[in-house]
Amino acid sequence: MNNDITKDESPARLIKDIVVDRKYEGTSLADKIIARAPWAEVTIADDNAAIRNLVTPDDNYTGYGDELNRGKHILHLTRNRGQFLKRCPATREYRCCDYQVINIGMNCPLDCTYCILQAYLNNPWLSFFLNTDDMLRELAPVLAEKKINRVGTGEFTDSLVLDRLTGLSVILIKKFRRHRHAILELKTKTVEIANLLSVDPEGHCLVSWSLNAPEVAKTEELRTASLNQRLQAAAKVAANGYHLGFHFDPVIFHPGWEEGYRNTIARLFTAVPAEKIVWISVGAFRFLPELKKIATARFPGSDIYYEEFITGLDNKYRYFRTMREDLYATVVNGLKEHAHPGTCIYFCMESDEIWQRVMGFTPEEQGGVPAMLDRAAAGALTGEKARK
Ligand code: SF4
Repeated sequence: MNNDITKDESPARLIKDIVVDRKYEGTSLADKIIARAPWAEVTIADDNAAIRNLVTPDDNYTGYGDELNRGKHILHLTRNRGQFLKRCPATREYRCCDYQVINIGMNCPLDCTYCILQAYLNNPWLSFFLNTDDMLRELAPVLAEKKINRVGTGEFTDSLVLDRLTGLSVILIKKFRRHRHAILELKTKTVEIANLLSVDPEGHCLVSWSLNAPEVAKTEELRTASLNQRLQAAAKVAANGYHLGFHFDPVIFHPGWEEGYRNTIARLFTAVPAEKIVWISVGAFRFLPELKKIATARFPGSDIYYEEFITGLDNKYRYFRTMREDLYATVVNGLKEHAHPGTCIYFCMESDEIWQRVMGFTPEEQGGVPAMLDRAAAGALTGEKARK
């Protein structure tokens, strides 16, 4: 079985098996997803035993890495038994953006060597939650609040990677556009934008792409769309009424990194109109100690875990402060050269010291990171760019 796709195929083709909770057999959304993936084997199951057999055939356990490799091709259609909406997992020690996350499902068929989900999730397979009515019910009071709510789906999976199968983006956009203060962020490394082009977001949706230096995108972001493909897709959604965001995260040291990040920044601002970009985040590579063990076993050719790191206040390994400052200065100064003055450029999870040294101010001086992003979102919602 060929477990990969060409650059022009949809990542939905990576799903080889769909396992449906018996409770959802014959329901409208489950049937639609199955019909949109005629290449996948379908199993109806009463419990997780069927999936466990797929990830560990014949109880032949050969390690979590192997389970993960197989699990990335198995989609479990089930229900979310917990809460859909959560605050972004932040730490007290670093400046956070106060963002809310909708948990639409777990795991991702793409395969970035640095992906935190390898160490973070309990199960090696993908899940998509079919109880979308519960999700919309939970969202309703939050979206109705008379304050800006920035909400996104790209925390435990890629927002659009299975959108061709689920059609969830359209359901969410239709919900968000009815609420004056709500903005939905869909975060992706794919070009799965067909559904987005079929609906008018009426200013309430921002599509964001993770960007990296060309060498990192090529060698560490397996099965993702190329940088050019991502930027072309961004230009297309921007021309169709969507706002844009970009995430330079994780910024990674590698031979030629300065040139690499400058190159990507130049390509970004050639491809898309600067005034369409609401925010750009920048975050240096950081990881939980457990991730190194799993990722280096799965990707022995990747060098990114073999730099010198310190343990941060959040117990994640990070580059030394001076190294982070060098990385950030190159990226942030490059972005500032081209960015619209109303675009919010911010650090994801950094200390005041780094903000001061690289940006020249601390978030408090601007009201805090959440307020900076709220102003940018408000500017997008009203059609006016926020001023610092
Ligand atoms: S695209 Fe995102 S969620 Fe998917 S493997 Fe890469 S980092 Fe993980």
